[in-house]
Amino acid sequence: MELSRRISTLTGGGSDGWDVFNRARAMVSAGEPVVELTIGEHDIRTDPTILAAMDAAARAGHTGYAAIPGVRALRERVAARVSERTGVPTGPENVMVTPGGQAALFAAHHAVCDEGDVALYIDPYYATYPGTIRSVGAVPRAVQTRSRDAFQPRAEDLDKAAEGARCLLINSPNNPTGVVYARETLEGVARVCRDHDLWLISDEVYDTQVWEGEHLSPRALPGMADRTLVIGSMSKSHAMTGSRLGWVVGPEEVVDHMITLALNTTYGVPGFIQQAGIFALDQGTALEEKIAAPFRRRRDLAQEVLAAQNTVVPIPSQGAMYLMLDIRATGMSGDAFANALLDTHKIAVMPGESFGQAAAGHIRVAMTVGDEAFLQALETLCSFAAEQAQ
Ligand code: PLP
Repeated sequence: MELSRRISTLTGGGSDGWDVFNRARAMVSAGEPVVELTIGEHDIRTDPTILAAMDAAARAGHTGYAAIPGVRALRERVAARVSERTGVPTGPENVMVTPGGQAALFAAHHAVCDEGDVALYIDPYYATYPGTIRSVGAVPRAVQTRSRDAFQPRAEDLDKAAEGARCLLINSPNNPTGVVYARETLEGVARVCRDHDLWLISDEVYDTQVWEGEHLSPRALPGMADRTLVIGSMSKSHAMTGSRLGWVVGPEEVVDHMITLALNTTYGVPGFIQQAGIFALDQGTALEEKIAAPFRRRRDLAQEVLAAQNTVVPIPSQGAMYLMLDIRATGMSGDAFANALLDTHKIAVMPGESFGQAAAGHIRVAMTVGDEAFLQALETLCSFAAEQAQ
């Protein structure tokens, strides 16, 4: 029996970019002591107070079908959080709760793209972006950025790529680069969206992890609130990756249509998870800062290690839980470097090539193991790079 073209071409062919990750996991399963600096997940679990709220909510009866757009109280909390942080008046009618940011990305693209429409995204990119675009029948078109620009997109490149496109997906703070888009970058993005009548899908799931500069939501820029869909999630901000709790914020009319989509796809998010989300958001920024603190600390430690050598060139680390390192001085591709580092030192990092062509010759290091192991691994990585460069 034949499958749909849409599902059988979802990955676009070729490697899915997870080879090193899979190899590392296989080594761990075989009992080998691998330091895994690959996937973007905290080394702590969800806070026990959030789990207690989840448990209490389930026992209090929040185990039936929950309101599909999200329960009113959660939509209100998200709206208040967005209004407070961005200054853009936002109400519960502008919010749809989703099973994680990934489902929000799918819903947003589904809402604005027709079959065959061109959807822009920035290279390097979070691994699921092209597949998410293909999953709604749209055609992904990458806009290349440059290492020497710290991977901030140039308005003139966006302008060229925007001809005939329907939407643009951006992500700041950025995975995989750890870069926070400057105001100037976002103003360029907004200008291109207005000039070419593009929808902007702004993935802001790392908005609580900013080490340098400030997070600016482009929805707050002039003329952008009516054409921007913001993707949010509690995965990274509250170490709730497994709870699958996220949202889309946008114009009410778009939200209404996405609710119809949810009715026919996800059927909402479990009520006890939503209640736990309300509890977590009610803890305010104190809890968010506690969750972000280990990454901030490790990023500072990494700055010292990286400053003491001159083979590996770091991309300015401004936010999110990753370091993007230029290892071109070794003469190796990111892929070859990551495989060799795993083989020789049992340290697993992601090749830049896993995130597109723009990050070839780079590696992404997730700061997701304890400080001591992280520092040791980074020092080993730098020595290894220096040996390769000789
Ligand atoms: N967007 C970015 C940039 C990510 O890095 C991730 C997860 O790693 C997601 C979205 C999806 O996160 P979730 O579906 O867990 O909210």
